[in-house]
Amino acid sequence: MREKIVAGNWKMNTSIQEGKHLAEDILSGLDRVPEGVTLIVAPPFTHLFPIACLIGARKNPGLAAQNCADRNNGAFTGEVSSSMLASVPCQYVILGHSERRQYYGETNQILLDKIKLALDGGLRPIFCVGEVLSKRESNLHFQIVSSQLREVLCQLDPDEFRKVIVAYEPVWAIGTGKTATSGQAQEMHAFIRAFLAESFGELAESTPILYGGSCKPSNAAEIFAQRDVDGGLIGGASLKADDFLAIAGSFARP
Ligand code: PEP
Repeated sequence: MREKIVAGNWKMNTSIQEGKHLAEDILSGLDRVPEGVTLIVAPPFTHLFPIACLIGARKNPGLAAQNCADRNNGAFTGEVSSSMLASVPCQYVILGHSERRQYYGETNQILLDKIKLALDGGLRPIFCVGEVLSKRESNLHFQIVSSQLREVLCQLDPDEFRKVIVAYEPVWAIGTGKTATSGQAQEMHAFIRAFLAESFGELAESTPILYGGSCKPSNAAEIFAQRDVDGGLIGGASLKADDFLAIAGSFARP
């Protein structure tokens, strides 16, 4: 059985105090999360340690960073390395988010470097792929996503690849209120799995592939019910504990 994961990307939101309150509200509602569902929170860097202290020895939720450096420790002012994140301790790092690609010029080569360093540092990457609207409208979405996969994940060796979580996030659905239909999500997720199977065979069957893009309590159940959708990467709705927990609760109980 594949892992089921609901991850919340808080982006550049909340003060430390607000973030701690949000984490506390999530922790106090963990009984709403069906057994077998891994919850992950990805607050800003500054919040990671205090939230790790609140999580303590619990397995759920896991803790993710939203980015890591493309270098090892050293003279790189302003950067945060994967080994620093692992020492928080974080278990995951989001890489390849469209906002990082769009606003910070992160190329597939940079993302490959980051993924390798994340894995070396002991973190599991949550690697995002997805097309902008114009590419979907010109029917180039499979081509875009396959090149993101080919140039990054397909360069890993199988032992590295087995730790990766993929997130399909159509850029036109991120923060726009427009969600992909469950059919569009399933079609792309099945494509991603089949594409990865060409390089990694059976391993692709156990790769968690999350959907991201305006996922909310009202649409999560239908999206999560799709065969190749293993959960969600949630932006806006992860900033309200009640909505985030409701989304996690949308998985049919085993
Ligand atoms: C995201 O940024 O990863 C995301 C899915 O955002 P939203 O849920 O707000 O569309």
